[in-house]
Amino acid sequence: MITASPAARLSPAAPDWRELWRDAITDAGELLQVLGLAHLSDRLPPGDAGFALRVPRGFVARMRPGDPRDPLLLQVLPQLAELDRVPGFGADAVGDLASLEARGVLHKYQGRALLIASGSCAVNCRYCFRRHFPYGDGIAAAGQWRQALAHLQSDPTISELILSGGDPLALSNSKLEELGRGLAELPHVTRLRIHTRLPVVLPERVDAAFLAWFDALPLQKVVVLHANHANEFNPAVDAACAALRQAGATLLNQSVLLRGINDDTATLAALSERLFATGVLPYYLHQLDRVQGAAHFEVDDARALALVEGMRGRLPGYLVPRLVREVAGDASKRPL
Ligand SMILES: *Cc1c(COP(=O)(O)O)cnc(C)c1O
Ligand code: SF4
Repeated sequence: MITASPAARLSPAAPDWRELWRDAITDAGELLQVLGLAHLSDRLPPGDAGFALRVPRGFVARMRPGDPRDPLLLQVLPQLAELDRVPGFGADAVGDLASLEARGVLHKYQGRALLIASGSCAVNCRYCFRRHFPYGDGIAAAGQWRQALAHLQSDPTISELILSGGDPLALSNSKLEELGRGLAELPHVTRLRIHTRLPVVLPERVDAAFLAWFDALPLQKVVVLHANHANEFNPAVDAACAALRQAGATLLNQSVLLRGINDDTATLAALSERLFATGVLPYYLHQLDRVQGAAHFEVDDARALALVEGMRGRLPGYLVPRLVREVAGDASKRPL
């Protein structure tokens, strides 16, 4: 049987992802201008409320021009509400960033360890805990790669390595190849999981060289995407997902429940349907991490549970994500 390589699914004319990354919009006034919303410029917080705007132009192209409530725009546009100081919302909502930065490996759950492979992202999501931790280029650049691998080597109970960040696909293909060589020396690690938003916000990242590396990895592979709304998908995202699946990955998605963006049953159900249409299963629906500046996105637990109950009423069970919250010190994500 002749099987085309995973990369055969991609557009041969796709521009280099690093150029698209550099060309991202970083000026809130420009973003509003591009969307025909320049009249809203006086509602922007000074200094982007301390967290730079960043969004690739290809993601902006999926926003509805002229709509200040667009669910993709609201994920990236700095808002005056971010300046509010709300009790309970702090700088270190997940509680363990200090240890995480020191070693690059977070090993909190049985059998799986999480490696902070990169501190960079192609998009800056306003609700992210990362807004308070611009941790530079992450551990790969800081030369801690070896130290992280040594830790994994020392613990044979770890069978799954999770690459997270930031976004691990912000790393160059050659950095990933270096990591792959390190993993080859760890026989007890049989599964590689990548937590990434890049195939959604900048699908050109899933390029031929990445796919060749990924396809050849002698590991079980899981890619957990991050999309919050069906409008984030387009044919380029579909092609990237198809190529990842052809390279042997199981595709899952995690979302964050966000007020004004995806907090109604129809929107969440549409996201699940859209994910499945492109070969992705919904995995987690996260309650917001309580980070300073993100309080206006919070949905209370009672409403969150009602929304998931509503999804259960209209979707097959495999399209209903698990509603969870991350609680520091727990042995897993905590189901609501
Ligand atoms: C979320 C997380 C994981 C993955 O948990 P799963 O329930 O397996 O998806 C692993 N390690 C850490 C530190 C995490 O925060
Ligand atoms: S892509 Fe993920 S890690 Fe990066 S800013 Fe968005 S939510 Fe945070």
